[in-house]
Amino acid sequence: MHDARKDIRDIPVDSLIGQLQAFGLPKFRCQQIFDWIWKKNVGSFDAMHNLGAPTKTLLESQFTIGKIRLETSQVSKDKTIKCGFSTFDGKTIEGVLIPTKKRMTACVSSQAGCSLSCSFCATGKLKLQKNLSAGEIIDQIVDLNRLAQEHYNIPLSNVVLMGMGEPLLNYKNVMEAMAIATSPNGLHMSPRRITLSTAGIAKMIKRLGDDGVKFNLALSLHAANDKKRSEIMEINDSNNLETLREALVYFHEKTEARITFEYILLSGFNDSMEDAAELARFARCVPCKINVIEYNPIEGGIFQKSNPEQTDQFVSFLTQKNLIVNVRRSRGKDIDAACGQLANKTKLKSPI
Ligand code: SF4
Repeated sequence: MHDARKDIRDIPVDSLIGQLQAFGLPKFRCQQIFDWIWKKNVGSFDAMHNLGAPTKTLLESQFTIGKIRLETSQVSKDKTIKCGFSTFDGKTIEGVLIPTKKRMTACVSSQAGCSLSCSFCATGKLKLQKNLSAGEIIDQIVDLNRLAQEHYNIPLSNVVLMGMGEPLLNYKNVMEAMAIATSPNGLHMSPRRITLSTAGIAKMIKRLGDDGVKFNLALSLHAANDKKRSEIMEINDSNNLETLREALVYFHEKTEARITFEYILLSGFNDSMEDAAELARFARCVPCKINVIEYNPIEGGIFQKSNPEQTDQFVSFLTQKNLIVNVRRSRGKDIDAACGQLANKTKLKSPI
């Protein structure tokens, strides 16, 4: 029989308060329920210990809680942990925990699959299955935080929206998730420790500026000339570099935030000195830093990673131009957890 109950976490806060009060629940009860849902992230009404049985029964009869389930996980030699989650409606998504010396980062998905098809990315080979809800995005953060504490005894320090999907094509839910992640009534994280990474949807970058977001923005650039960028990222046909430049300047004017440019080095494609010069020119449009990322070959992919000498030359060129450059060595390669490799291939059959 069809279950007509709605996931309580999909109901906007204002309208949920109205609905709960219409059932005769006082305001402090609504607050308790929010705490259970968002602060304590429980998966059932029964677990809400300070609610009386009649309230629990009432909630149970009206709503569900569609938490994701950790199904599989793999630990890499470098301690990166890749998790496969299933959503309430049976879709598979992936999240990755990346421990480094200074940080404990959760890389989370915003969509199941992706509607874009960047040629260097394994997720792009999967079709878009659905936009994740705010709750499903928060669940990944909460579960990865739990694993961080269980395995490494360190809580999460950072969150990056760089897993499966294009976050700006799931704008409403992503913004809701970020609001919960940073709210004292939610996970209470500093927005400065959260980064949203986009393939480059100019209109939505401007909207982020209009919404005055406080979290960091990263643009997956990967080529600073339109011909090359369009070759690897179809989205560049409708959002070319000039449009992106304009959107980034607008975003910076509104938020005063520094932008991060992500640049995967692909051997013989975008790693020449001419490419570096184009990148340097483009990057000057806003205060920025550049993350040069080691490429992880994917099944059926046509690219190879740049060799170390080429990478060094590329990076030196940028630093000589006084740009801030970080080189991101790949993490979790042996378990396909590295950047661009997420494609629902998680192997172990049980959660750790
Ligand atoms: S890189 Fe990001 S936007 Fe491009 S296909 Fe992969 S998941 Fe989608």
